[in-house]
Amino acid sequence: MLNLKLELEKVSSVVIAGHIRPDGDCVGSCLGLYLYIKKNFPKIGTVDVYLEKIPDSMHFLKDSDQISQEYPDRPPYDLFLALDSGDTQRLGEAVKYFTEAKRTICIDHHISNKGFADENYIVPEASSTSELVYGLLDPALLTKEMAEALYMGIAHDTGVFQYSCCSPKTMEIAGKLMAMGIDFSGIVDRTFYQKSYLQVQILGRALLESMMLFDGRCIVSVIRNKEMQFYGVTPADLDGIVSQLRSTRGVEVAIFMYESNVQEYKVSMRSNSFVDVSKVASYFGGGGHVRAAGCTMQGSMHDVVNNLTRQIEKQFEQETQQ
Ligand code: 5GP
Ligand code: MN
Repeated sequence: MLNLKLELEKVSSVVIAGHIRPDGDCVGSCLGLYLYIKKNFPKIGTVDVYLEKIPDSMHFLKDSDQISQEYPDRPPYDLFLALDSGDTQRLGEAVKYFTEAKRTICIDHHISNKGFADENYIVPEASSTSELVYGLLDPALLTKEMAEALYMGIAHDTGVFQYSCCSPKTMEIAGKLMAMGIDFSGIVDRTFYQKSYLQVQILGRALLESMMLFDGRCIVSVIRNKEMQFYGVTPADLDGIVSQLRSTRGVEVAIFMYESNVQEYKVSMRSNSFVDVSKVASYFGGGGHVRAAGCTMQGSMHDVVNNLTRQIEKQFEQETQQ
């Protein structure tokens, strides 16, 4: 297993980066680790954290204002820590620091991760990268602020301790973080459940316009660019729509996609019990987990839906043959 303490004792500059369009686990694991290194490794002169814009609701986290969204040219870092990213493309602009860094470490739980760093700590069974980060730290050196970040990450990636990736170990860790006096219900309510009125409206629209395929085993919903413009929403406002689709009775696979460019769609998939959506996403150049995955696809909306459902149908057929 990765010995993070040993790695950190050898370096004097560290960079932490997560994936593009950062989600709760990405933000929680990056900030939790950032706070831990800053506090417990004073000999490391430079600790930087790079992430794309994070949701406003996560700004309560300590040092969220220290996250850099600009990527200036600078001397190579001694150590690059890649968190919650399945491949180097997902690192976005921070990839340039990855390429230059003297040493690189990847900490991740995506099944599609092939191990792109010098040292790879990839545990697909783990609920979240935040859970993995917790396991690498000395619990005696954790502060309440670090606990808030890591708890948020675990709560988000488990759908608030609901998905099958949530294990007894996950709950034990969450319990220990809870015991540090964090406002656990407030964190979940404000960062996971609460939506702006615009988000509620676009969710309603997506549900209303959804369609059922394969006798109700697959639900699909698409938001076009003109609809996003009409409601005045950004891609970040569409988070959570696919989870809502997934909870429709009888559905095995939920697909949500939005037009990310001309003839280009960002696809999110969720499954309930047997379809491996990571396999489908990887087939189209994306990745993720068995029950939650995504990719970006080119073509018309109908082409994209057809191509996706053809792959999903194969898995439905395999299941009926068994
Ligand atoms: P979401 O649907 O919430 O955007 O993503 C679900 C899961 O799939 C997340 O763990 C996310 O990291 C992963 N994922 C989503 N889109 C992509 C993609 O384009 N490439 C890769 N490698 N993973 C993705
Ligand atoms: Mn994650």
